Amino acid sequence: MQPQPQQGDQPLSILQKTYGYPSFRGQQAEIIDHVIAGQNAFVLMPTGGGKSLCYQIPSLCRDGVGIVVSPLIALMQNQVDALKQLGIRAAAINSNIDGREVHETMAKLRDGDIDIVYVAPERLLLDGFLDLLDQSPLALFAIDEAHCVSQWGHDFRPHYAQLSLLAERYPNVPRIALTATADAPTRRDIIKCLQLDNGETFISGFDRPNIHYTIAIKDNARQQLLQFIKNNHAEDSGIVYCLSRDQVEKTADWLCEQGYNALPYHAGLDAETRTKNQERFIKDEKVIIVATIAFGMGIDKPDVRFVAHMSVPKNIEAYYQETGRAGRDGLPANALLTYGMSDTALLRTFINNSTASDDQKRIEHQKLNALLGLCETSRCRRQVLLEYFGDSCDPCNNCDTCQSPPETFDGTVAAQKAISCVYRTGQMFGVAYLIDVLLGAENDRIQQFGHNNISTYGIGTEFDKKEWQSIFRQLIAHNLLWADTEAHGGLKITTDGQAFLREKQTINLRRHQATRAKKILATEVSESLPPEAQDLFIALRDLRRDLAKTQNVPPYIIFNDRSLREMAIHRPLTPDALMQLHGVGERKAARYGAAFLDVITEHEED
Ligand code: ADP
Ligand code: ZN
Repeated sequence: MQPQPQQGDQPLSILQKTYGYPSFRGQQAEIIDHVIAGQNAFVLMPTGGGKSLCYQIPSLCRDGVGIVVSPLIALMQNQVDALKQLGIRAAAINSNIDGREVHETMAKLRDGDIDIVYVAPERLLLDGFLDLLDQSPLALFAIDEAHCVSQWGHDFRPHYAQLSLLAERYPNVPRIALTATADAPTRRDIIKCLQLDNGETFISGFDRPNIHYTIAIKDNARQQLLQFIKNNHAEDSGIVYCLSRDQVEKTADWLCEQGYNALPYHAGLDAETRTKNQERFIKDEKVIIVATIAFGMGIDKPDVRFVAHMSVPKNIEAYYQETGRAGRDGLPANALLTYGMSDTALLRTFINNSTASDDQKRIEHQKLNALLGLCETSRCRRQVLLEYFGDSCDPCNNCDTCQSPPETFDGTVAAQKAISCVYRTGQMFGVAYLIDVLLGAENDRIQQFGHNNISTYGIGTEFDKKEWQSIFRQLIAHNLLWADTEAHGGLKITTDGQAFLREKQTINLRRHQATRAKKILATEVSESLPPEAQDLFIALRDLRRDLAKTQNVPPYIIFNDRSLREMAIHRPLTPDALMQLHGVGERKAARYGAAFLDVITEHEED
């Protein structure tokens, strides 16, 4: 028997029977009911929030076919594969699909013999395709990655803007636009372009509560990375981001020497190697991809357990997008960033040497400052992140600063000394020189400039070099000082810095801690798996891998990690018991249940 969702089934029963999930998350139920009732919707939900169900289930519940517009061909195929595993009739139409198959899908579409069709926007806009849609029964239009509609968004695509014709040509077919990244102007643009103003907006906030954030000063970044992987992620898939191709190659080689399965990915590799490495990351287990930011677009692997940054990303948006690739399945995941002043200086040089306008450069410098503020904060990281996006939360207890609050001190006098020293030396020297002056070092350069005679010479001996470095970093992060890269990183006083001195403001600073002694904080990703379940889990994972290999699909499409964990812990022995578990729907139980039950039974007998 091939159970299939029936039109007319209720959303909750489809969720349980077909997807094998017990309940809706967040606003899913509301959104789904709204679209089933034929209304338009705009949905802003963070990555991993479960946007797909918001259009998939209405496509099943309403008469006709759901048309999903998506810009990423690789993702379409992934979604179609996953839906087929659930017994849902789905297909994609794009330039990668051969003509015969496209033809078949189009015939099914016209006859309403298919539930969901994914289509690239270029294709949808062709006259021939629109003519076909005119004759087809349509359940809805879903516009995925809807920020591509807007010039304000970070990934504008002209074809997306033309989707405005859907409202005019198909006024009775509901439209649902979905995105994970859209600030207020982008949202307004999307709603206007797709004419969603008569619909409802569903905004779920930006938080990714299952991701643990840690940001540490670089202190032998490789050892920090190794310690982090060894202690927390020895068995996991993850992404390590580096700033340069060279750093990618070296870090990947080094991780391999340490016994990990690490693969490089950057724009300098030939296309074939890139594709091969990406495929292995998606289809094998325990693969670490070491990459420049060229990697990640269009990857929706749900079980990436960690994202590590070996250098600062260029702004908070990039950091959030990159770390957001961890833990899409909702299980605990870790984000680690190690940063140092030299990468920051390099990023500043990139910005200055770019061809952007001066205004644009200024914005990019400010965005980098905001990122440094995040690095240097003594507040909850999540609060700082969410506030940046106009959202908020309570201290999260799932980040390094919540779990190990940094000691702070009244840094007013230290800040005054540092800023005065910048002023007295003429706003042209870098941090190292300024610290020498504050510490009263005796060297030729200081003599040469006569800085052994100024009032700030030797007035900072209450701190050592590392402590002063930390203070300067924080003053830069607080925007009291800035490093003028055109003047070789010479520090200058900002208008805020001038006001700080003039108005006798006060400031609290983080006390410097030797990082070497400090453990990199991370969250337990596998705490739900008791030791007695581990062998069985591994056996189930091997079975999953073999099944995936024969079909050439990623393992998580067969069953995700959470399903396997539940099998290993609860050890169901009957199909009914199996179907009680997370992610085990009717179709998957029928197709794979016996094989997994066999493995569980064997383990019971041992
Ligand atoms: P998004 O597109 O918002 O990034 P997805 O739609 O890919 O997220 O969903 C992320 C993961 O969460 C998928 O593995 C999906 O099957 C799962 N998921 C979605 N909704 C639920 C739910 N109600 N219960 C359990 N898992 C869910
Ligand atoms: Zn926190």
